[in-house]
This record gives sequence, C-alpha cells and structure tokens, in this order.
Amino acid sequence: MSKQDVRCSFCGRQKKEVDVLIAGITGHICDSCIGQASLIIQEEYSHLSKEQVEQSLQLIKPVEIMKHLDQYVIGQKEAKKVLSVAVYNHYKRLLQPADKEDEIDIEKSNVILAGETGTGKTLLAKTIAKLLNVPFCIADATVLTEAGYVGEDVESILSRLLQAADYDVAQAEKGIVFIDEIDKVARKSDNPSITRDVSGEGVQQAMLKLMEGAVVSVPPQGGRKHPDQKMVQVNTKNILFICGGAFDGIKQIIERRIKTQSIGFGSNDGMIEVKENILSYVNQLDIKKYGLIPELIGRFPVLTYLNPLDKETLRSILTEPKNALVKQYNRLFEIDGIELDITDETLDFIVDKAMELKLGARGLRSICEAILTDAMFEGPSLDTKKFTVDVAYAATKFNTSKISKLKVA
Ligand code: ADP
Repeated sequence: MSKQDVRCSFCGRQKKEVDVLIAGITGHICDSCIGQASLIIQEEYSHLSKEQVEQSLQLIKPVEIMKHLDQYVIGQKEAKKVLSVAVYNHYKRLLQPADKEDEIDIEKSNVILAGETGTGKTLLAKTIAKLLNVPFCIADATVLTEAGYVGEDVESILSRLLQAADYDVAQAEKGIVFIDEIDKVARKSDNPSITRDVSGEGVQQAMLKLMEGAVVSVPPQGGRKHPDQKMVQVNTKNILFICGGAFDGIKQIIERRIKTQSIGFGSNDGMIEVKENILSYVNQLDIKKYGLIPELIGRFPVLTYLNPLDKETLRSILTEPKNALVKQYNRLFEIDGIELDITDETLDFIVDKAMELKLGARGLRSICEAILTDAMFEGPSLDTKKFTVDVAYAATKFNTSKISKLKVA
C-alpha cells in the first residue's frame, strides 16, 4: 500500500483528508474519529455513574422502609410513616438529574423527632441508615459549642460522618446525621431581646451553616480546628439531618396554643380534652416558642413525634424485634448448650420494674442483666441443659441488685 492510500480504519478517509492520522498495529484512526469515540466514552460513563448511584442508594419505597422498621422498632407508627416518606423523598431528590430544566427543585426533608428519651428516636434513624446502606453518625447537640468556646466545633459532626464513611467524601455526602438532644440548645426564651441565651443560640447558628447545603471545611480527625490542620471539604447539600429531642415542657406550650385556638370554635370553656399524646399536635410554632431559632426550624420541614412507651409496648420490645433482648439472651445461653426459658410472668415482672423505676426501654436491659448475671456466670461451668427463670428467681436476683435500689424522683 502506497503512503497515499493510508486511510482511517473507522471512517475510511484518506490521510490527506484529515489533520492527524494515528497508526496502530493493524490500522489507523483519524482525529475526528478519536473525538467521536471520546464523546461516546463520556456518555457511557455518565450513564454508568447514574446507575451506580441508583444502585448504591437503593431507592426503597416508603411501604418497604416501614416494613423494615417494623422489624426493629415497636409501635411509633406515625413517626415511622413520616420518616419513611421523608427518607424516600430525600433519595428521590438525589436521583433527580442535575440538568433538568424545569427549575423544580425538590427541597431537602430534614426531620425533627420529638419524643421522650428512650422511645426509639435514635433506633429509628439508625435502622433506616442501615437499610439504605449509607454512612450514619450520631452527634450530641449538648457537647457542641460556637467556635471559640470550650467543647466541640459543630464541624466535628461531619468528622464523625467521614469516619463512618471510611473517609470516602462522596459517600459521606449522601449520609445521614442524627443529632440528639437538639432541645438542649434551645434559647431559654422565645423573645431574643429579653433573656438572650447566647450559648444555645450560637450553637444553633453554627448548626444552621451545616444545614444550608454549603461546602464545609472539616477536620478529618475531629476535635478543635487549628490553623495548620489539613481540612477536607464536605458538601452538606445532600446529607440528611435527623434531630431528636425530648422537648421537656413543650406539652404546656402545645396545650396553651390549642386552648387559644379552640376559643370561638364552639367549645364550652376554651378547653378541649386531649386524650391521646398531646405531642401528636406539635408543630413548628411550638418548637419556635420552645426556643429553636426560626432559621433553623426552616431547615427542618418535617416534624413528627413519638409516643411514650406503655407497658404493652415495653413487653413487645422484650420479645418481638429482630434482635429483641430475650432473643439475644437465648442465643448467649444456646452457645453454652443451655436452653433458656424465661417465663411469661417473669417478662411481666421485668416490664413492671422498668415502669416502676421509670427506666423505659433502656432499663429493660439493665434489669435483665441484674436477673441473669449469676446464671451467665455459673451456667457455663455447670452440667445443665435447661435453665428456667421464674418470677421467684427473678425477684430474688432483682431485689439483691443495685438497680433495685434506684429511687424514683
Ligand atoms: P431515644 O433516642 O428516643 O432516647 P433510643 O432509640 O436510643 O431512644 O432507645 C434506647 C433503646 O431502647 C434502644 O436501643 C432500644 O433497644 C430500645 N427501644 C426504645 N424504643 C423502642 C421501640 N419503640 N422499639 C424497640 N426498641 C426500643
């Protein structure tokens, strides 16, 4: 073949018709074919990465999220439903193509969970994060301070998320952060000009920065920022924030609001009788009155509540969740070849004690430990195949334990 006959093996053009012709082992490629091939590759990559994102986010429908939560969290139907929808919408938002031109911008659905301590707020958030397979971290609002004060900088929350994501920034940017005790950074009065509670409000302002969807400089190892520390840039736009708080005393605020609203609505004396959990009426106004700043509340469009745990729920918590306490103890004994039988009356006894001592679900574990520690100590060395825990045994062990000495305030 003469030099003049050399052609691009892809488009067939001759050397003189193209600017550059690159020779391979058995053929040639011209500059315009290289350009086209490069475009095809780019398109393929963008397509691939969307699929990858979808895969890693696993768009799970609200009903499925709820079903999953039901396996781990007892009751709290309303919170589960609201949370399932919020999380689903959040991830749908993430999957929206960035180049959509209709200017509909789905906003983030950060969530506030209001409910007494130990009712399952953290458990809900944790269970969802596990299901979605995204990095998750828990931060305590009470240890956070404004920059310059003793305590942890607000950015340390993101350090924790980075750690949970094994320092994969892209993963961390899709994670879930649970901030506990948000109510403790409330300012003490609704009126900022009278009793200005600087520390609480300062922390809220600092938190606002995290939630505004900005790029934040994060010290990867956490702790205090110092000048010559290497920072990691984390974009918080797609991080879902879930805040939990007991909001002690908010019931009165809700009651007052409902009472005022009901005047003129045909009630006799302005009082309406609320039989269910008054917290179920909580709205953003109440939270504002409680002392969260409006700008921060604005970042939390979803607000829901948890019910206090009654006897029946505590009883179910002992045996029903996938990793229920009783199932865990059964497994521990099974490993030693012992069949553990905790009688129904004993389970009722445990629940009664948790209620009496006002320990809630967290107390169930301490009470079980108090009852079973001796058995777990001696069991493995004895030649026993079955161990029954009846009420008499449980009461003896419980009454001699430290936990029984707890005084209820
Ligand atoms: P909160 O965050 O509301 O203070 P947690 O979610 O940390 O409470 O609950 C403490 C523990 O109590 C959990 O680890 C769990 O074992 C148990 N628990 C609380 N509420 C529930 C519930 N509704 N269903 C199952 N377990 C619960």
